[in-house]
Order: sequence, then structure tokens, then C-alpha cells
Amino acid sequence: MKCNKQINPFVQASSQSTPPKGEQGGGCGVYILGIESSCDDTSAAVLRDGFLLSNVTASQAVHEAYGGVVPELASRAHQQNIVPVVDAALKQAGIEREQLSAIAFTRGPGLMGSLLVGVSFAKGLAASLGIPMIDVNHLHGHVLAHFIKEQGARGEGQETKCEEQGAECKEQGAECKEQGAECKEQGAECKEQGARSKEQENTKGFKQSSCPLPLAPCPSFPFLCLLVSGGNSQIVLVKSYKEMEIIGQTIDDAAGEAIDKCSKVMGLGYPGGPIIDKLARQGNPDAFSFAKPNIAGYDYSFSGLKTSFLYSLRDWLKEDPDFIEHHKEDLAASLEKTIVDILMKKLRLAAKDLKIKQVAVAGGVSANTGLRNAFHDYAKRYGWQIFIPRFSYTTDNAAMIAIAGYFKYLDHDFCPMSAPAYSRVSTEA
Ligand code: ADP
Ligand code: MG
Repeated sequence: MKCNKQINPFVQASSQSTPPKGEQGGGCGVYILGIESSCDDTSAAVLRDGFLLSNVTASQAVHEAYGGVVPELASRAHQQNIVPVVDAALKQAGIEREQLSAIAFTRGPGLMGSLLVGVSFAKGLAASLGIPMIDVNHLHGHVLAHFIKEQGARGEGQETKCEEQGAECKEQGAECKEQGAECKEQGAECKEQGARSKEQENTKGFKQSSCPLPLAPCPSFPFLCLLVSGGNSQIVLVKSYKEMEIIGQTIDDAAGEAIDKCSKVMGLGYPGGPIIDKLARQGNPDAFSFAKPNIAGYDYSFSGLKTSFLYSLRDWLKEDPDFIEHHKEDLAASLEKTIVDILMKKLRLAAKDLKIKQVAVAGGVSANTGLRNAFHDYAKRYGWQIFIPRFSYTTDNAAMIAIAGYFKYLDHDFCPMSAPAYSRVSTEA
């Protein structure tokens, strides 16, 4: 069935009197295309009524040689990737672009050149289709990734393919079991670091999330979210889909940034997070100790740790030029433990003070095994109900932009064509 377009995209949502497509009956469904291009991942995703149909990401290997993201190269790569990525997302979702109800896009924060590619593309496509645009704060997207529903998990069409794919599901919930997959009560993701290992290359070489795990329980408001990425380390009090208060944040480097810089100092690749994570699994977390910050409240600091790591390494290298090679696993494990301890200490303090037991983690660093283990440990120790995202929703992805857009769509909260990209914005905006 094809729905009639009822929304004038050039009119602000608040003045919109006609109900959005999908709320008019007739079973059209609300199809949201999400577009993410804030840094070095070009991603597009399609949701139907909040259920994920596709999530396609093209990562940019071009930056590896430079040990960090080169903005100009990033925007050029986005330009090359955006059309085939959106095309692949629509194809994988099995829909025509004319069926889309709205386009949600990352408006900021991020690299201006990168953002402009996604924002301009979203505007062009929305105008050509005559559908509304929804601007999404990238940081809200990370937090709201916990509300993405997986197609197929509760009889929404697709059968779960866990068994076919040989995955051993360990996520909470009974659905997967009922559907014949091999499940274990409670626990983490699919074996071998979950969805990430199940991501398949499609014919165009883009990553697609395809490990259909059971529908995870969503947090209820208010909850705390530790938002840890390459650019942010924040404790966010999430009061609703729209209302988020930062109660603590880094006063200098972000956790991911510190990991990436320490990895660079060790001569390891970029991004450092996954490399440090892998090495840390084979090392002794108590082998070395590094400086921890001593600042008041719920704020973080990682620059002292980074300097302490650098200076310690410099001294050790004077005595043994092969020190890094001899000790890289222990160095990685000790660095990871220090960062996880710093993050968890303030998070625990905030949860205790605010008497909140629902605690989530989001952002690229939430892929870290040590941090995930710490969450499980704190859940046992302090009775927390924890929410840990699937691996495919940790680093930048369009599924999280689409779900944030979906909630705004239900509120008829659209943005005008004139809305510019912004490189800086707070989680609270
Ligand atoms: P941003 O949106 O700020 O660019 P992302 O949310 O994409 O950041 O996260 C990227 C960050 O996550 C990088 O600093 C990267 O090193 C870190 N990261 C990714 N995987 C892991 C991991 N397994 N352990 C620790 N850090 C990780
Ligand atoms: Mg991010």
C-alpha cells in the first residue's frame, strides 16, 4: 500500500495539523531513513515503526595511515559513499524511497565538512520526495540507541537466524529460545563479541548488521547513561526521549580520545580502542599503575592519565628500547583498567546520590570488554539494571539517528530546510 503524503516539509511540526503518515490508519507504517555523517562513518538506516529494517555503514580506512581522522579526507569519502550507502539501506529494507515518511539526519555535533554532506543530502532527498526532515543531535542518538527494536525478534516478520548463523545467543530474554535458537539466560551478546562478528559484507562491501538477537528490554525514565566516545565522556540523566541533563563530563580529554592517544604513543594503529581492548584480554590489569584524577563532583579528566602514561613509557623505554613490544598486553590491560575505574567510580557516585538503579552505557567506548564486564559486576554488586548496546550500535551508526528521529516524528517535531549543520552542541540541546 502506498500512503499519500500529508506533510508539508517546509512547515514546522508544531503548526502541522494533519497527522503524519502512518498515524492515519491503513497500515502504512512510519518509515524513517536515518543518515549519519558526523565523523568518519557514512551510515544509513531504515526503521519501520521503530523496528530496524537496515543499517548500512561504510567506514573510512583512509585515516588509518594518519593515526586520526583527517577532516578533508573524511568529507570527500562521505561524498563518495553517501549515495551507495543510502541506496543499499533502502534495498536491504526492501522499500522504495517513495515509501519513506521522513528523513532524520545528524545535524551535529561533528566535523563541519562531514556533517554538510549528510545534511545536504538529506535536504535534497527530502525536498525531492516532499517529506519532512528531522534534525538529530548525534549525542541523543547514542543515548536513544537503547530503544531500537529489532525486526523479527517478536514475531515481526523475519524469523531469527541465530541458529542458521551458528551464533550462540546469550542476551537476556526468552524470545530467541522460543524461536528455536540456542540461548542462555542473562549475559552479553553473541559469542565472539556479538553482532560485530556477525556483521556481513554485502555485495557492495558495506557492513550490515544481521545478527537478529532478541528484543532487549529498554530503560525506563529516568535513567543514567554513561556516554563515552571519541569526543565525549558524560554522565547523562535521561528524563525523557527529549530531555537530557549532563550531570558530569570531562573537563579535558574524552575517554576514547585518551585511549586513541595512548595507542598512538605505543605505535599501535587507529582507532586505538579495539586494539587496546584485544591486547588487554591477554594482559595483567595490575601490572602498571597510572595517575587517576582527583576532581570534585561527577566530572571526569583524562589528560593527567594520558601524560602519566606517556612519561612512564618514556622512562621505561630508556631502560629497555623494546619495552612496548615486551609489555604491550600488560600496558593495554593496565590502561584499560585505569580508564574503566575512573569511569565507573563517578557513575556509581551519581547513581547512589540520585538513587537511580537503571544505568546504561553508550558511545564507541561502550564496545570495550573491560567496561562491559564492569557494568555486569556493578549490576551484581549494587543491584543495577544495566543496558549495554549491541556492538553495532556502539560506534557511529544511522540506526541510532533513525530511532531518535522516529521519536521526534511522533511529536511532529520537524526542522525547516534552512536548518544549518552545527559542529558544536551539547547533549542537553
Ligand atoms: P565519536 O562519535 O566521538 O566520533 P564514536 O562513538 O564513534 O566516537 O566512538 C569512537 C571511539 O570509540 C574511538 O575513540 C575508539 O577508539 C573507541 N572504541 C571503539 N571500540 C572500542 C573498544 N572496544 N574499546 C575501547 N574503545 C573503543
Ligand atoms: Mg559518536
